[in-house]
Amino acid sequence: MALLAINGGEPIRTRPLREWPQYDQRDYEGLREVLESRDWGGYSPKVREFEERFAAYCGARFGISTPTGTSAIQLALRVLGVGPGDEVIVPAYTFIATASAVLLENAVPVFADVDSETSCLDVDSAKSLITERTKVILPVHLYGQPADMDRLLPLAREHGLSLLEDCAQAHGAEWRGQRVGSLGDMSAFSLMTGKNLAAGEAGIVLTDDEALAERARRLENQGRDLKRDFNAYLELGYNLRMSAFAAALLLPGMERLPAQLETRSRNAQFLAEGLRPFGLRHIRGDDRTTKHGYHIFELEYEEEAVGVSRETYLAAMIAEGIPMSTGYGYGLYRSPVFWDRKVRPKGCPLSCPFYSGQVDYTRDPERCPVTERLCHSRIVIRGRVLLEDQEELEDIIRGAEKVYENRAELQGVSALSKAGAKP
Ligand SMILES: *Cc1c(COP(=O)(O)O)cnc(C)c1O
Repeated sequence: MALLAINGGEPIRTRPLREWPQYDQRDYEGLREVLESRDWGGYSPKVREFEERFAAYCGARFGISTPTGTSAIQLALRVLGVGPGDEVIVPAYTFIATASAVLLENAVPVFADVDSETSCLDVDSAKSLITERTKVILPVHLYGQPADMDRLLPLAREHGLSLLEDCAQAHGAEWRGQRVGSLGDMSAFSLMTGKNLAAGEAGIVLTDDEALAERARRLENQGRDLKRDFNAYLELGYNLRMSAFAAALLLPGMERLPAQLETRSRNAQFLAEGLRPFGLRHIRGDDRTTKHGYHIFELEYEEEAVGVSRETYLAAMIAEGIPMSTGYGYGLYRSPVFWDRKVRPKGCPLSCPFYSGQVDYTRDPERCPVTERLCHSRIVIRGRVLLEDQEELEDIIRGAEKVYENRAELQGVSALSKAGAKP
């Protein structure tokens, strides 16, 4: 008789996950306060309070909030002077928004490979891609693991480039004792529901530089002359003011964040050890990381130890009710928007009078071998699972043990059709 759920056996777990996003009495009070103030928009003192508190938490001087993380990256790129004809170096293994924000600012994303033990931007690969058109290096602190800032900062300085941190997955993470978001020239965070600090949809840009902060505030608000004449528009701006309701959720969220980070770290260690005997190796990152954000818990799947493809294995685990998935399923250059000449944007930025380069993303897989490999060997568990109670975590380990012990049952099982383990 079959034991594995994928073959008709009893699954290990059937309960839904419950623990994200979190809220408590303070959220009700904050939302009510904003509601009754009738000051619902971006001029609310709640928004200013959040910006100041979050910037201080990260060790940065200034914070400018935005409606999304994507627009936070766009705003920071604009502030750093990125526009038509400019190149921005981004990792190929990340969420689409890191690269699409560049494209939306009419600039050219150039994909660098990642490091296999941190999954973050590979510094040598980034270095090899610098041209006279490069303006910004945009590393991502992927899954909560900071990128190698010890090497990226000097590299940017040496070439006169700006360094913009994509911190969307790394709230509270630390590199050698310093919180991310205060390491580069500017940083951008997402605060959407799934991220470690959540407000539905929101974002924020941080910087220590007063002139950059002033320009960000101006571009966030229609290009207004905020100092002298509110009705004068000094340059073409956006409206990226954040809702006060978002701030009402973010302030209590910030109070919960430190304890959540501790729980995520503790449970990450627990899972890492528990899963190790069953063909799953935790990617624990760089030793200079003093705090991992654990937005995502990342594993290397050891296909040789288990003896079936990652897709078959994942289908079996998902059938057991274990919340696992592939990480990013392909290098971003393979997205139709970059790869397919019929789909990708016409004219600026990829071919226009401002840009003299030749863009051909179909050559990128060759120079991003690590990205290509990780797309086929990684398994991830969302970090929110690390906040679930002990029983859930034990069930994940039991699931891995069960599938491993009964792996002979998986021979001949066709994965893709059964559990949709595709990205
Ligand atoms: C979520 C995310 C973003 C975009 O944030 P949104 O708030 O969804 O716009 C950007 N970069 C990375 C790495 C992300 O994970």
